[in-house]
Amino acid sequence: MRPTVDPAVEPALEPSTTPPQPAAAQGTARLVVFRPLKRKRCAECGAGPLSLLVLADGRPRCLGCADLGHLVYLPRGDTALTRRSREGSGLWAVVVRFNRRKSRYERQGVLVEEAALARAEERCLADAEARARRRARDAVRRAAGDERFAAAFAAEILRLFPRCPPERARRIAGHASVRGSGRVGRSAAGRALTPGAVTAAVTAAVRHGGTEYDALLMRGVPRGEARRHTAGAVEAALRVWRE
Ligand SMILES: [Zn+2]
Repeated sequence: MRPTVDPAVEPALEPSTTPPQPAAAQGTARLVVFRPLKRKRCAECGAGPLSLLVLADGRPRCLGCADLGHLVYLPRGDTALTRRSREGSGLWAVVVRFNRRKSRYERQGVLVEEAALARAEERCLADAEARARRRARDAVRRAAGDERFAAAFAAEILRLFPRCPPERARRIAGHASVRGSGRVGRSAAGRALTPGAVTAAVTAAVRHGGTEYDALLMRGVPRGEARRHTAGAVEAALRVWRE
C-alpha cells in the first residue's frame, strides 16, 4: 500500500512552495506524517530538528502541535500487526519518506494508538499460539498415521512372507515407513502396499541384515558385484519366509 501523495510534497517542505494536501485514497482520507530528509523545526513551537512532522499550510509541525503526539510508531514489516493496529485506532497516520533516487514517497510505517497496538499484539500472539497448537496436533495425527501405516505394512509383509518372524516384519515395516526417508515405504507404491514394494523392502532388509552384503561394500566391493554375490542367499531366505 503506497500512500497517494503528490511527489511535489518534499519540495513543499521548503517554506516557499505550495502546501500539500492530505492524501485521499479509495475515498478514505489518510493522515500523512513525513520523515523529513532535511532538518526541520516546528513552525508553531520551534521544537526540532523533527524526526517526524506533519505539514499544515505548507509548514512543518511537530506531532505534539498536530495533536498526534499520543500515537506510537510501528515500523512496516508485520502486515497483520499493522492492519490490526490500524483497525483498532480511532486516529492513525501513515509515515512516509521521500526517496530521492526513485523520486517517490516510500512508506516507513504507521503511527497508531498505543492501546490499539497492545491489543493487536495480543491478538497476533494468540494467533501464533493457536498456530503452534495446530502444528502440535498435526504432528500427533501424522505420528498416528505413520503407526497405522507401519502396522499395515507389517501385516502385508506377513501375508506375503508368513514364515517371517513378526518382530522382524515390524522392524522392516518401521524402517521402510520412516517419514521423509525416501525409502520404499514412503513411495507411492509403498503407500499402496503393492506386493512389489513390500517385497523390495523385505529383500533390502535381508540383503543388509542377513548376508555379507554390507561387509562386501565396506571392503570396497562394487555394489553390483556385492548384489550378485549375495543374491543366492537373499533368494534362499525369502523362499524360507514365503513357505
Ligand atoms: Zn510543535
